Amino acid sequence: MPLTKAEASLLARRTGMAVDDFTWRNNGILTLLNDEKTRACVFLLTASADINAEGMCSVYEVRPQGCRTYPNVLNDKDKAILDEGCPHKSQFPEPTEEDAIVLLNLEEQLLREG
Ligand code: SF4
Repeated sequence: MPLTKAEASLLARRTGMAVDDFTWRNNGILTLLNDEKTRACVFLLTASADINAEGMCSVYEVRPQGCRTYPNVLNDKDKAILDEGCPHKSQFPEPTEEDAIVLLNLEEQLLREG
């Protein structure tokens, strides 16, 4: 999951972790690291690498905007769609044009910071 520098700073302050301990650069974009064992985000409390396993976000109150808007993602025509890879996508409403604007603004900020 990509995140802004400000979001990374907030997570660092709340968790006491160094930004480098929970992020990496994916093509220049700051991105949350995955845990080696669970293959899920380092902040997901889960005991299993199964994509359908129960899990809980340990930083829910300060999770990045990309987490708040997921499973909405942009397709190659800049339209907001539900991520095909999300196992719970049927539980979410179809994204709107406003959702696309939110994602485009986030993408623009991430690219500017990258
Ligand atoms: S919601 Fe929480 S556990 Fe999920 S990707 Fe975001 S920070 Fe990680």
